[in-house]
Amino acid sequence: MLPEEVYDVAQKKGMLHFFHANSLATSISLLKLNSLASRKHVESSGLAQTVQYTDDIDKSLGVWNDVFLDTVDIHRRASRRNNYGPILFVFDSKIILSASGVRITKTNPSKWQINTPIEQRYFTSIAELDTDWNAGNFDQMITLQTPNGAIPFDRNFLSVIIDDPATGDAPSKDYIAAEEEVSKLTNRTITRRQCTSWCKCKENYQSSWITSKMFSI
Ligand SMILES: [Zn+2]
Repeated sequence: MLPEEVYDVAQKKGMLHFFHANSLATSISLLKLNSLASRKHVESSGLAQTVQYTDDIDKSLGVWNDVFLDTVDIHRRASRRNNYGPILFVFDSKIILSASGVRITKTNPSKWQINTPIEQRYFTSIAELDTDWNAGNFDQMITLQTPNGAIPFDRNFLSVIIDDPATGDAPSKDYIAAEEEVSKLTNRTITRRQCTSWCKCKENYQSSWITSKMFSI
């Protein structure tokens, strides 16, 4: 499917923004590369990248050099921590026009087997996408293909939202450190995430190992 065709469907469905969440360490690498980059691209650059349990399977499934985006802010929509990380990059949905190819998954690649047929992995026609692509479905991820696995940050990179893992009203030291590092590398607006009272993220961050994994530099 052509990026232009997919963009038109996204527009029709009211998807104005796309999102990419990551750990602090990987986010810093993306900012240093001044690009939204694939796992492969970050690894090849020699910059830091937080390990994900899907890394090996991603390589064998052919998505290691893809750039991943979500159609919603998962943390906000699901009222829980985003498993990919506390740093959220917000883009204009026009970002997909910068790719040479785009595919929308039907399920998260972590659920695929090596022999999962292509039509079970991805939407295979614009008509199918038009009917079944929903912003609320977290399994349906946008994967972008480019020759080098990176999309330079340009005017489509709008802002950054950072989680605060602590419960207090005042910014915690994890948040302050993250904001400081991110602000050194971008002039985009950075905001401290405001959660609803029923959001589970503070509870999710209570297990300290996840907080230190996600907020370490
Ligand atoms: Zn929250």
